[in-house]
Amino acid sequence: MVRVRFAPSPTGYLHIGSARTALFNWLYAKHNNGKFILRIEDTDKERSKEEFLEEILGSLKWLFMDWDEELTFQSKRFDIYKKYAEELVKQNLAYMEGPAIIFRVEKEKKIAFEDMIHGTIEVSTNEIKDQVLMKSDGTPTYNFACVIDDAMMKITHIIRGDDHISNTPKQVMLYEAMCLPLPKFAHIPLILSKGGGRMSKRHGATSIFEYKNMGFLPEALVNYLSLMGWAPGNDREILPIEELVKLFDVKDVNKTGATFDMDKLVWINSQYIKDMPIEKLLPKTVEYLKDKKVLDDKFDEARWTEVVKAYKERTRTLEDLISVYKIFFGDTLEYDEKATEKYLKKPNSKDIISKCKTAVEGLAKYDKHSIEEAYRKLAEEMKCKAAELIHPTRVAISGKTVGAGLFDMMEILGRNTVLQRLGKFC
Ligand code: GLU
Repeated sequence: MVRVRFAPSPTGYLHIGSARTALFNWLYAKHNNGKFILRIEDTDKERSKEEFLEEILGSLKWLFMDWDEELTFQSKRFDIYKKYAEELVKQNLAYMEGPAIIFRVEKEKKIAFEDMIHGTIEVSTNEIKDQVLMKSDGTPTYNFACVIDDAMMKITHIIRGDDHISNTPKQVMLYEAMCLPLPKFAHIPLILSKGGGRMSKRHGATSIFEYKNMGFLPEALVNYLSLMGWAPGNDREILPIEELVKLFDVKDVNKTGATFDMDKLVWINSQYIKDMPIEKLLPKTVEYLKDKKVLDDKFDEARWTEVVKAYKERTRTLEDLISVYKIFFGDTLEYDEKATEKYLKKPNSKDIISKCKTAVEGLAKYDKHSIEEAYRKLAEEMKCKAAELIHPTRVAISGKTVGAGLFDMMEILGRNTVLQRLGKFC
């Protein structure tokens, strides 16, 4: 059975690159009906923090990556590492330097392993120094604890970032010295920023919760992350998680770095918003607005449902809905200055708005079809294009030149609010 693990160190928030590593492991496990296990590499007591662990686990859950079995904490296993290190000393494969235990590297040997992505990797032991296994403070080194744990946890495939590729020969050496069965390795390319170089804070958000904050849906982020270094072999880009599970294979991951492209992520997000059934999207928008402290006592679910229906085609991120909320539930509008100049401050603007207002007042029935009909009729009477009425009205009732269909907006806002807003400009 396939058993993979994700092994974060709780010394910082979940980085976008690590989330992608976790995802490839999770997908590989799911695709093969295997297990996805978490190991917390908290050997550095000073830097490991409970809040980081909570955040990492929360981010994984948010991205639908549930895990199997109990968490393994390296900090609880120091005695085990020590026992194995002392065994190596007994066998004369390691020696002590004070309380530290060091593995002796035999020179003039070749260490080779098969990487599922990079093929055969071979290094000479002449390039490897003796390896510290246990430090003088009693804590294990990463390479040592990793090997013991991967072996004891019966991990079959180690899928991790390319940045560990130079550690792997050192680990292989330890597997051989301890006669432990060797797992398979796959080193996945790093996520690079657009200008090249590793994704870092400078290039935008790096922690997963920052993406949540920016209004990305976890479905879209999972989809986007899966395409960072992997493709299903056709041009498809919208791949829901069930599809990914079906199609993903680690051996199809590229060797070269994947470039992070914010525009593409935004596009994928907009597709998910557009295609998501309203019943599923609605609670997500409400939760987001609550988190952002935008939702207030003016909120009305029935009206918000209509708003989201009207706007979902053109919403890129949930963040876009903050200003939309203010249009429909706020007391004061923020007017786009240029739009106001262009549509509401021209010599004939007052006249146009006033005629529109009269038309709205005179409607026997107030719904989008009747409003549209009245506007078309008015345009005919005024011998102008309907657009010459639509643009100023839109700016007067929403403060903006873009948005959902005007007549939808007017219907949702209700006649009183529309008249009041138009009244300000005539
Ligand atoms: N704690 C290591 C890291 O976060 C784990 C590396 C590994 O997967 O072996 O990079």
